[in-house]
Amino acid sequence: MVSREKAKGKARKAAKEATKQVVKSSAAEDDSHHQQQESLEEQMQHLRLLSNKHLFTIKQNEYGNQSACASEFIPKHTLIFAELPAIRGGEIEIATLYNENGTHQCQADDDAFLKNNIGLDESTRKSIWELHDQFIDTYTPTNHPLYSPDEKRVLGIIKSNAYHSNEEGSRGLYPTISRFNHSCKPNVGYGFNGWEMRLYTTSDVQEGEELCTCYSDMVYFHNRIERGEFLKSKFNFDCICSGCNSNDNDDDSEEQRLKQSDTRRERLRLLAETLAQRDRSNLKKSDLEMIMESINIMKLESLEHNISTTYRLAREWAMKLGEDEASLEEKCLGAELYAKLLELSKGEKHPEAIQAMMEVRSR
Ligand SMILES: [Zn+2]
Repeated sequence: MVSREKAKGKARKAAKEATKQVVKSSAAEDDSHHQQQESLEEQMQHLRLLSNKHLFTIKQNEYGNQSACASEFIPKHTLIFAELPAIRGGEIEIATLYNENGTHQCQADDDAFLKNNIGLDESTRKSIWELHDQFIDTYTPTNHPLYSPDEKRVLGIIKSNAYHSNEEGSRGLYPTISRFNHSCKPNVGYGFNGWEMRLYTTSDVQEGEELCTCYSDMVYFHNRIERGEFLKSKFNFDCICSGCNSNDNDDDSEEQRLKQSDTRRERLRLLAETLAQRDRSNLKKSDLEMIMESINIMKLESLEHNISTTYRLAREWAMKLGEDEASLEEKCLGAELYAKLLELSKGEKHPEAIQAMMEVRSR
């Protein structure tokens, strides 16, 4: 018994050392914020952005979940928040792995890892443990004396809340942004400048209205039933957003609204699939028309959070097809709007945003 415990202790110590090594190298690869020296100017920029937190408050909604609500009227295209992740990249992968392979068997193990290996202070760890764990009842029970079946685990919190950073291609866990719930008709878009995640409104938001992001672009292209299955399998929740549910079950026009939305999203998928197969060296006017139709559907469906990518494609193809600037503007391909969206989602100092703004000014 004693020797087995000793062996266990040894194994754990070895695992801990190994973690230190992997975390260390991952941290170096990820340009970890713990080592990153930001310039004073960058720090000031963050503080200015973070000060916009007064635009929303975190409240309990009618379902007992935390939600972000507008504290005042917020116009469309307002930057509302920016945040760096508490854990990111390789740190997340190791935390996940150690839950999955049983190296960490309870919340106390997870918390010690966050403290000792990642170096998180008590308040940051507290903000992580306050996040929702949608997978709380899906773990294989362990025999660890500190394990309790209803305790949150870091793996569940990561699976429920982490965002994929566009630029880094790996995941970050953002303690405040994670409080924003999902909607298939979001009113908040987001982008990344390195690891910094930025949120902005994609429509006018009334005081008291809930602010929601869209957890996956997959939902753009699927009807209610399909995306419901996807969200359940990926995030383990049933979507209660207004894009999936009727505001009044007895109202026929509500059912009509939802059916129209299903048709539009199915059409959007067909357009995306068709456009993906087009020969870019032999573009036709009809290809551009399909992109314009996609943009219009995205606008109708409140899917503007990633619309700048489609705008870029539209502009690129229109140029290739010999469209002039006036005609581009008329079609609302909007160089100015494209630049504005890049500035909001990536920050005014991001090379892509600078380039887009220079193009607007040079015209
Ligand atoms: Zn939904």
